[in-house]
Amino acid sequence: MKICVLPGDGIGPEVVGCAISVLKAVTDQLEFAEGGIGQAAYLECGSYLPDETVDLMRSCDSTLFGAVTTPDAPDYKSPVLRFRKELDLYANVRPVKTFARTTPAGPVDVVIVRENSEGMYTQNEVFDDSGVTTMRRVTRRACERIVTFAIDYALKNGRGTICCVHKANVLRASDGLFLSVFKEKMASEGKALRAEDQLVDSAGMHLVTDPGRFDMIVTLNLYGDVLSDVAAGVAGGLGFAPSGNIGDKHSVFEPAHGSAPDIAGKGRANPTAAILSGAMMLRHLGMPAHAQEIERTIASVYQSGHLTYDLGGRHGSESFTECVVRSLKSRESL
Ligand code: ATP
Repeated sequence: MKICVLPGDGIGPEVVGCAISVLKAVTDQLEFAEGGIGQAAYLECGSYLPDETVDLMRSCDSTLFGAVTTPDAPDYKSPVLRFRKELDLYANVRPVKTFARTTPAGPVDVVIVRENSEGMYTQNEVFDDSGVTTMRRVTRRACERIVTFAIDYALKNGRGTICCVHKANVLRASDGLFLSVFKEKMASEGKALRAEDQLVDSAGMHLVTDPGRFDMIVTLNLYGDVLSDVAAGVAGGLGFAPSGNIGDKHSVFEPAHGSAPDIAGKGRANPTAAILSGAMMLRHLGMPAHAQEIERTIASVYQSGHLTYDLGGRHGSESFTECVVRSLKSRESL
């Protein structure tokens, strides 16, 4: 299988390099082809996402992406939003799980499925004399396909309850549509699952005070973006949160964190989110045993006391990855 690799900016190349070392340690079935994205691509060819990169993404079985730095340029358009749109990656999946540090509120193990194609992220902002109006789009089609995706994911991955997170008490028409589609679909396609719903403000509080009450969340674009970082913070930090952008034909896996310019080049980034994104990619490509092996190994490396800098430990990106690779190689082959 051919994987497009987009290291990007900041800590992106560092953590993606670590993820590739781990992928190579579990399988020799992957072939990697690198593409340009972000500031380096802009300096080289004047585009934050060259057309050749999009073509490469389309031609590969999946993509592993690092991160890009957002420049302070007025004409800047996010390459991430562009590839999500061009490849129709309508579902953003963010599993958040406690690996190393248990919070006072207890362990976290929640999958957040976020609508990835519309909502507040249509970048449609209209200026007038008194301010700015941001257009937020919610369509029945997008609601239906994200809820169907979430149900399918829950059934395939052993999740029992889906909580729809919304603000339908205020945004009655738009979030109301999302909630009613959720109820319809759960009553038909999701009959085997338990359906719940919560207002986004209350869900934010519960993710902090009682994260164990959530099994899976399906929500709109902006709420999913915010809540997944809240959940990641509760579970140990951004260095632990992988994600997948998934459509019917294409997929892109990336750590949920950004390019972290403050620690770039220092070898201090926690590569766990990128490595777990690689594991998610393997599961998506039909290699669940390999994915599970990586997840189990990461958990056991942390349990045996190998902690990264963000947890107050002594491991930088490379030495932590070496521990994971050594541990994988010492196990029986898959
Ligand atoms: P960007 O503009 O690319 O979004 P940012 O610094 O605003 O960058 P993040 O990259 O998400 O946003 O980082 C937020 C904070 O979390 C930073 O202080 C960063 O150092 C820290 N951080 C992010 N990822 C990691 C990681 N993998 N390991 C350790 N710390 C991280």
